[in-house]
Amino acid sequence: MTVVDQSTSKRPLVGQLLAMAIYLGFVGLALWRWEEIGWGGLVWLAGSLMTSVIRAPYAKAITANTIVDDRQDTGEKILLAGMYLGMGLLPTVHLATGLFSFAEYHLPSWATALGAALHVLFLWLFWRSHADLGRNWSVTLEIRDEHELVTHGVYTYIRHPMYAAIWLAALAQPLLVPNWIAGCMVLVAFSAMYVVRAPREEAMMRDKFGQAYDDYAQTTGRLLPRVI
Ligand code: SAH
Repeated sequence: MTVVDQSTSKRPLVGQLLAMAIYLGFVGLALWRWEEIGWGGLVWLAGSLMTSVIRAPYAKAITANTIVDDRQDTGEKILLAGMYLGMGLLPTVHLATGLFSFAEYHLPSWATALGAALHVLFLWLFWRSHADLGRNWSVTLEIRDEHELVTHGVYTYIRHPMYAAIWLAALAQPLLVPNWIAGCMVLVAFSAMYVVRAPREEAMMRDKFGQAYDDYAQTTGRLLPRVI
């Protein structure tokens, strides 16, 4: 168990601004190629920008947290890197440059529309889970000082609404970015991430909250509400 005061481990501002400038440059290039990327690509880009906008205030708020239990290990870092690649870098670079054009496939427009609908659902659930989790949220597996067990809002029904949201995004991406590399790699990356992360996270929550977490788990499903 390690204690990390996040206020002293922020990324330097110059690095953040540089990363943002590069990202916006890629977005600009992708918009320039709007005819090639089609409206599916445009929806994916807009959704990806919205994701950052939704997360930004919560990411800022948690920098004040003191972490009392940090369970991020090398495996977790590799899985997270896979997610940044599959859900961020590969589709963004492909939409901006056409780098993986050789791996494209074609879809009917109803499939793109389905992808857009899933993406809207994703954004809603992503926003609600951040709003309900508040300062208890973290990118990796952590327990913060004064951590509270959240059982309200979307957490009333399922234990992992944020992961449910990311599943929706992972399913939408191959429909919006029809490419075996840029569109589909996210499914591999998030399947691996989810299978490893969910049980480890639940074990961590049990260690912290004991019976209260067991009782909560009795009334909720992992990704879908309990019917019985
Ligand atoms: N698995 C959840 C949360 C993802 S964020 C979801 O999909 O919505 C990951 C962090 O959230 C974990 O490190 C853990 O500290 C925290 N967390 C997970 N479930 C929580 C809950 N019910 N109440 C408070 N914190 C929780």
